[in-house]
Amino acid sequence: MPGEYGASSTVPRAWRIAALPVLAVLGIALPLTFATHTEPFLFEFRAIDLLPIYGTAWLVLAAIALPVWIILTLPLLALEASHRAPFPLLARAWRVALIVLAALIVVETLVYCFETWLGTFGHSIGVPDAVVYGLAVAVGLAMALTAPGRAGLRTVRSIGAACTVMGAIAVVSLPAFGWHRAALRPTAGSPGANRPNILLLSIDALSAPHMSLYGAARPTTPNLDAFAREATTFDRAYSDGNFTTPGIASILTGTRPWSHRALQLPTWALDRTRSTSLPAVLRRNGYRLGYVSTNAHAGGSAQGFGGYFQFARTDRTQELTLCRDGLSRHLRFVCAASEVPPVAEFDHLVDLLHGPPRGNLLYDPRLAIEPALAWLAGVDRDKPIFLWVHLFPPHSPYAAPEPWLGRFDSSPLDRDTAHTQPSWAWLLSRLPSSQVHTLEARYDESVTYVDHYAGDFVRRAQDLLGPNTVVIVTADHGESFGHGYGAHTGPGLYEEIIHVPLIVKLPGQTVGKRSEALVEQVDIAPTLAEIIGVPDEADWEGRSLLGECSATELADRSAAGDDQALGASPPVFSMNFEQNPRLGALRTGSVAVMDGKWKLVHYMGVLHYPDMPPLHDELYDLSADPAERVNRIAAEPVVAQRLRQLIDAELARRGGAVRKQRATAQIPADSSRPSP
Ligand SMILES: [Zn+2]
Repeated sequence: MPGEYGASSTVPRAWRIAALPVLAVLGIALPLTFATHTEPFLFEFRAIDLLPIYGTAWLVLAAIALPVWIILTLPLLALEASHRAPFPLLARAWRVALIVLAALIVVETLVYCFETWLGTFGHSIGVPDAVVYGLAVAVGLAMALTAPGRAGLRTVRSIGAACTVMGAIAVVSLPAFGWHRAALRPTAGSPGANRPNILLLSIDALSAPHMSLYGAARPTTPNLDAFAREATTFDRAYSDGNFTTPGIASILTGTRPWSHRALQLPTWALDRTRSTSLPAVLRRNGYRLGYVSTNAHAGGSAQGFGGYFQFARTDRTQELTLCRDGLSRHLRFVCAASEVPPVAEFDHLVDLLHGPPRGNLLYDPRLAIEPALAWLAGVDRDKPIFLWVHLFPPHSPYAAPEPWLGRFDSSPLDRDTAHTQPSWAWLLSRLPSSQVHTLEARYDESVTYVDHYAGDFVRRAQDLLGPNTVVIVTADHGESFGHGYGAHTGPGLYEEIIHVPLIVKLPGQTVGKRSEALVEQVDIAPTLAEIIGVPDEADWEGRSLLGECSATELADRSAAGDDQALGASPPVFSMNFEQNPRLGALRTGSVAVMDGKWKLVHYMGVLHYPDMPPLHDELYDLSADPAERVNRIAAEPVVAQRLRQLIDAELARRGGAVRKQRATAQIPADSSRPSP
């Protein structure tokens, strides 16, 4: 079949025919599906960032396609080596199969793009898979076996080849879009040799109301309870965001989401907030930094802090996503690129080949704990240490392994990873309440699971670090099972989602304290700065809690029943702006302000979520109504007005469009760090 794939190229025919599926992916499927995905990308990134996102997607797909191309070619070369029957016939059949495969990719892409386009008008025709496959086979056979088909194939091949080459050009842009790596300027006269070590443990999706430490009925956190007996427990600590990226960015940058703008899952904090972040300050002041995370979205590299850390170990999960912290170090846009359909499709394919996850050890805390402890055991101690460990449980899937599984709900239901994924936001309201209760029990079991390892880790890490160590245990956000609202993200800012643990143990502290002060994640950086004796960064939005930790007397709770006593600390905020352009003015979303006993949740702009009820501002008296059952907005208009003004004032200061980045980050080249 000399005409089936043209005769002009110098590349041998077998290689050219086997390249057809590769060209279909890189030159047809990628540009078309990328175009359909442009709208969310433009929401989350600058227009110029489309270039490196495309280049990254191309690079990832090319890396996958190259071995596939070789594997597809080899049988054809083998079959063509012999001219005796039945090999020529088999070779021809293989060539036809390759053309049908390419046709399948193109037809599937066209159907996907058509459906997506229809979806923008709210329509869907839901083409059945059998129709797509049947159409693809018919098109493929026509292209392989008929003269007009072969002419069409040559045209498609030319388009695919041209677009593939253009994609390769986008790859050239990648070096220009790396993380900023300006030289690190150490602070003069700050060897830091006597400064305390710092251990920061963040636990994903750990809701304070679900911890026995915070009064939960189930004995979920016996180990953290024990740790807190020699530390200061903040009873009213809040996350500044309600999912991983903004929460972690707030902890590390000391700024709230309206400032750092890590508003969506695959994005990161602005350069200027990273350059004044806790890791940057610690590195400049002589610390040796290390981190281990089992959630790539909470990884230092994926969030752009990787350069400050001399040691990193992450991605130890068995999850097969391409959004990996290790890859992010070299490919800044890999998390975004992994959302492009052909790349995401590869993930699904690998999942399919891998089979459903067996057991429920997907995010075993030991994957993070053991490398962290090994690093501590061997690290050079000429400098003070900052070690940050992020554990994935009790993030969904909730199913914990034995012996924790079934501890709070012995039913045979919802016991594996496939059946303990939450229904996000208002989709939870579709579930029967009995199932919500089971899922909540599974979550609590997972809290107990992570508590076991967290307690063990803190003990062992303190043994290695010695007594001159500050330990902070907190969470990036919580998890919701009430108000018909599931999990986290979305506009929901209920207490279950944003009330997080915060436990601070000062060096040598042996007496447990509890503080009722209102505090938030952005207070962590200034607290640590004061403890180690360095000044706050000007753009930090929190305050040091060292005074609260050092106070010798507990607050007299009985005397604190009124606004005045509870209102002794400044108001704190929590927010979600995921449906805003990352760098644009913040016009839609939700902001909560907690002030004294009051909590106001303000919903802004036009929000789009499945099953979303009409949203109205909510005001709760948390001292009388901690479960947020009675909206006092109509009964307390003066309070509501005052709190609304607090939000408006902050939004006026920080909620506008981000015009220009003022400073460049000062992240060192980190050649000494081992690879994960
Ligand atoms: Zn999280």
